[in-house]
Amino acid sequence: MARQYPVGIDLGTTFSTAAWVNESGQTEIIRNSEGELLTPSVVLFEDRELVVGKEARTATTVHPELVAEWVKRDMGLPYYSRPIHGRRLPPEVIQACILRKLKEDIVFELGGVGRVVITVPAYFDEPRRKRTADAGEMAGLKVLDIVNEPTAAALSFGETLGCLAADGEPKEEMTLLVYDLGGGTFDATLLRLAPGKIETVATDGDVMLGGHDWDLRLVDHVAQRFKKLHKRDPREDPVIINRALAAAVEAKHALSARTRTIMHIEVAGQTVEVPVTRRQFEEMTADLLERTAYTTRQLLASAKLQWKDVSRVLLVGGSTRMPMVGRMLRELSGREPDHSVNPDEAVARGAALFAAYLLDKESGGRPKSGLTITNVNSHGLGVEGIDPETMRKKNVVLIPRNTPLPAKFTERFVTRSENQRSIAVQILEGESSAPDECTAIGRTVVRDLPEGLPKNWPVEIAFEYAENGRLTVTADVPGTHRGAVLEIERSVGFADDDLARWQKPIDEAAGFDAFESMVQEVMEQSADGRNAEMTPEEIESMQAEFGGPGAGPARPGGWTPFVAGPNPEKPGPEREPPPQTEDESLVAGGSHRIRSVARQRLPRWVGLIGHVIAAMLGLTLGYLILCQLRPDTFPFPFSW
Ligand code: ADP
Ligand code: MG
Repeated sequence: MARQYPVGIDLGTTFSTAAWVNESGQTEIIRNSEGELLTPSVVLFEDRELVVGKEARTATTVHPELVAEWVKRDMGLPYYSRPIHGRRLPPEVIQACILRKLKEDIVFELGGVGRVVITVPAYFDEPRRKRTADAGEMAGLKVLDIVNEPTAAALSFGETLGCLAADGEPKEEMTLLVYDLGGGTFDATLLRLAPGKIETVATDGDVMLGGHDWDLRLVDHVAQRFKKLHKRDPREDPVIINRALAAAVEAKHALSARTRTIMHIEVAGQTVEVPVTRRQFEEMTADLLERTAYTTRQLLASAKLQWKDVSRVLLVGGSTRMPMVGRMLRELSGREPDHSVNPDEAVARGAALFAAYLLDKESGGRPKSGLTITNVNSHGLGVEGIDPETMRKKNVVLIPRNTPLPAKFTERFVTRSENQRSIAVQILEGESSAPDECTAIGRTVVRDLPEGLPKNWPVEIAFEYAENGRLTVTADVPGTHRGAVLEIERSVGFADDDLARWQKPIDEAAGFDAFESMVQEVMEQSADGRNAEMTPEEIESMQAEFGGPGAGPARPGGWTPFVAGPNPEKPGPEREPPPQTEDESLVAGGSHRIRSVARQRLPRWVGLIGHVIAAMLGLTLGYLILCQLRPDTFPFPFSW
């Protein structure tokens, strides 16, 4: 069997790249079968073939309805934003197609592939991380781990600058700002490098901001010019949009090297020439650049650091080649940004180094295990609760963002009723106190609680982020020797057995025909509600089944989580609950409370008007009855 080298994959929004660590410990980029170092993250779904890469990108100008691109931006959504062959595909399936192509190229170059590390933006939330790992599995890859892109970039930076020792440890202390502006996402991360460790201090970003947004501004520029000349908007035609986009990317790249260029777009046999200068381009995209500057400033503020505390500003991602980026960062930080790593390759190289680090650590081989790599969680972890004052749903953050990982938080919930048999908790990621503005990861349910537990029996639920940002939930019922790893019933995404079923058609790359039956099958399952996003009715029934918010003793923080369960038929033997301190008591209510919450959401005056109308109706009815009984004293008010 061929030796299995450490391999890292940068699964980018625009380009994907694979790298490996050779026998002498150096990273190398793996060329694809077209002989290129970067593979466009684009999939063309032919009837009988899946085409990934450059050829697929070219097809976007002719058959946009068969091509999927920018899929990484849609990770976390139930479906890719555009239908393919008129069908909706889960984004991780398309990502898996890209990974399959990379796998083929890795196997061709190295003779085989072992376990791989795949990168994700530091700002990716937990569901997006899970679905990236799922895409790897569907592509038939064994995923050793997922790693944050800036961490990978820092490792690559260490390799390039020789500031990592032979065993992978940083030689000197420094604080690094990694500014990563790719094609579809923006990430800003602060890292602290010191002998023996690489720590992420804080991270921030925007999964909907990247070079593509700069391209779209140039497309708008062309469209305005075209409208002036031909009195119609070329953006109405998807084929022309894609042609304009291709011209925009070319012009953008040219403007990184020169101060003016001309965009050529062919529309209905006519070629439209649109000149554009670098200054115009910078003006039309100034707000986009400012968004990255704002996030970067916020990041420093959240880490309580100033620019003088930052040793280097590392530029990563193809879009940092735009001169405006370097200039903005120079002005912001007061120092020259560092171009020492290749912005297209650093992440893949660093991922390969991380794979080598993990494999070494696992095998207990070289003394590399002295190095520790610490990440932080990019989003707060919370549970859905009820604010007892407003009776509104609230995100109660248990693990604040930028907490060093691994991190564990145990929360004590209590049963609301006697002989309650289950507890359900909604898990959220996000900073907002409004659950609607957070990412619903799913719910976790403690089922089969022992019979006969009295009311207020504590159930401890531990939420634990692993080093890579993936989440596990465990439950413990004190006094009953019951503990379990709970499955997170996810709001969106595949169950494990579905992943396995997707593997074959993806692996064979046999095209959309072979794919369609799978699409149909899984979509039908989703329609059954198994993997689909929960509908409001489902959420309602879940709340009814597991009980709703309650009024019980709220903790000093003043909130009550959604918990509780169906009521028992027969109460069990009396037991003493373990002692409980005041601030540990978290109680939620029986199903009757749900209706009261629904009422609470209506403004008070609605209820008041209701009361007045009811009183008037009552008086009228009383008067009409009296008219019947004593017509002489109470004359009938209407005549027919
Ligand atoms: P991702 O990580 O999203 O896949 P990359 O780091 O590969 O992205 O960067 C791709 C982006 O960089 C694209 O938007 C591309 O147009 C842009 N890019 C690459 N080279 C240049 C350049 N010379 N000037 C401006 N933008 C560039
Ligand atoms: Mg990238």
